[in-house]
Amino acid sequence: LTPVPSDIDISRAQTPKAVTVLAEEIGLLPEELEAYGRNKAKVRLSLLDRLQSQPDGNYVLVAGITPTPLGEGKSTVTIGLVQALSAHLNLNSFACLRQPSQGPTFGVKGGAAGGGYAQVIPMEEFNLHLTGDIHAITAANNLVAAAIDARMLHEATQSDKALYKRLVPSVNGIRTFSPIQISRLQRLGVNKTDPESLTPQEVSSFVRLDLDPNKITWHRVVDTNDRFLRKITIGQASTEKGQMRETGFDIAVASEIMAILALASSLQDMRDRLARMVVGTSRSGHPVTAEDLGVSGALSVLMKDAIKPTLMQTLEGSPVFVHAGPFANIAHGNSSVLADKLALKLVGREGFVVTEAGFGADIGMEKFFNIKCRASGLKPNVVVLVATVRALKMHGGGPSVSAGAPLPQEYINENLDLVAGGCNSNLRKQIQIAQQFGVPVVVAVNVFKTDTEAEVALVCQIAQQSGAAGAVPCHHWAQGGRGSVELAKAVKEAASSPSHFKFLYDAEMPIVEKIRTIAQKVYGANDIKLSDEAEAKINYYNQQGYGSLPICMAKTHLSLSHMPEKKGAPTGFVLPIRDVRASVGAGFIYPLVGTMSTMPGLPTRPCFYDIDLDPALKRTLEK
Ligand code: ADP
Repeated sequence: LTPVPSDIDISRAQTPKAVTVLAEEIGLLPEELEAYGRNKAKVRLSLLDRLQSQPDGNYVLVAGITPTPLGEGKSTVTIGLVQALSAHLNLNSFACLRQPSQGPTFGVKGGAAGGGYAQVIPMEEFNLHLTGDIHAITAANNLVAAAIDARMLHEATQSDKALYKRLVPSVNGIRTFSPIQISRLQRLGVNKTDPESLTPQEVSSFVRLDLDPNKITWHRVVDTNDRFLRKITIGQASTEKGQMRETGFDIAVASEIMAILALASSLQDMRDRLARMVVGTSRSGHPVTAEDLGVSGALSVLMKDAIKPTLMQTLEGSPVFVHAGPFANIAHGNSSVLADKLALKLVGREGFVVTEAGFGADIGMEKFFNIKCRASGLKPNVVVLVATVRALKMHGGGPSVSAGAPLPQEYINENLDLVAGGCNSNLRKQIQIAQQFGVPVVVAVNVFKTDTEAEVALVCQIAQQSGAAGAVPCHHWAQGGRGSVELAKAVKEAASSPSHFKFLYDAEMPIVEKIRTIAQKVYGANDIKLSDEAEAKINYYNQQGYGSLPICMAKTHLSLSHMPEKKGAPTGFVLPIRDVRASVGAGFIYPLVGTMSTMPGLPTRPCFYDIDLDPALKRTLEK
């Protein structure tokens, strides 16, 4: 329709087919489906075993140029492309998307179900709650937090003997260790299974984690932009006997458990990763893990349903897996390995799985390749690089753009010089970044109604000259899959040439060299500069045996550099590394480039102003 109706009106105007019908269409057996209502279902991981011998389909990553704060349409391109591949080119295809957090949904950006005629439906189910995975992560994360503080209280107020009696209680006169306790003893070098045989020294090291309250890295989480929880003091009630300490909350999707969900390859792998999570350091300087706390089994049980991807559909009825949604700065910002693996089997050799990476290609795509593909062993065939005329104008020297403010004239009227400036800097650089990984790049120009034909043609021309395998305008937002047929053809063509995928660095390289490689080869920095704290942490991580983990840079997405105001393709800068942290369970080291907020705040006019019960829906609910 012209003009294009609102996202919610488009979403409501389409009745999705029942998820059981969709499941049958894509070849699922009834016993592989766990329906959550009519429109969505979890898919059992036993499907992977059944389809083990099936060849994988083509694996396509949608990434973007450095965006404006408004987002340049990676989700809509992903959905539009899958709609075009399935409904218009008749190829089996699947979209794999991240589950949105309530943070952006109620805060600044709004939902993440796509937009216009390229959406996942029903959008309100997609954007809120879904099948409860984020709630499960919140519960698991906060169980760890409660376990940490309770353990410190008990250790502070009880003798070794009393602690031992409670940790290994006598039932009918017999004490037995639980499997988790035996594994802790083994890590302490005590190979005994009889609880009566421990020496007082062994009892003491077994019962005391001796966490240093100043070195606890674990935070509580909540899925709300609640800025007043950024820094809090806990333990103020008299029942906590003065065990007060300062800590804070992060938004739920920043939890390491979310990153683990996205990277786990099986239930056992998730269990192992949860066990390895480091929550703090003991007074003697040793890392203390979730397994030491005895909580990793319970965490796996809390997460046992969250590990199954959720099946939904696009407006045109193509299948979508919605699964995981880790932060794209302190984590890797990609949906789950398991959803991609299941989808690749389901589409078969000729089919296509399209997934999306957060932020610009310098961040989301680099992490997709170096972290996610390293964990999964999957090899991508094509990168789709989303560009918009508005973001290119910004990189070409246009005035700054901000959410909620009207777009300056430069973005409404034709301006080929600004477009050319952005193409020759940011677009060219992002194409080169993708090419370093040996994967062909197709540039998708997400067309807005203010773009002129000459502007769009110029982007396609410079993209081709910069080495893209294809460059096409996309009209999926206004036209649905029909508007992305040219993109689908270009992606199919690019996928037919061999991908020479390779990692940017060898995981065995020293941590500093890995960081320097990303800074120089991806961001265009001259060098890096480590703070004293960063250097000390790197030494500590090397001592602890974490040196061969891949790197997850926590950098602004608004520039290729660490300076959000520097647009285009900045050069000649030195990237400052303020601190370095580790998500040992998820399996990466994350250097902090500048300060990163892991708990956003609400703006003056949050998106929740626009969310209410629809009168018709209200009547249905009340019936
Ligand atoms: P990203 O995934 O890159 O953050 P989205 O696909 O979520 O971006 O798009 C950001 C916002 O812009 C959404 O509200 C979407 O509906 C809107 N949008 C995307 N493409 C277009 C377009 N071509 N015309 C108008 N609005 C668009």
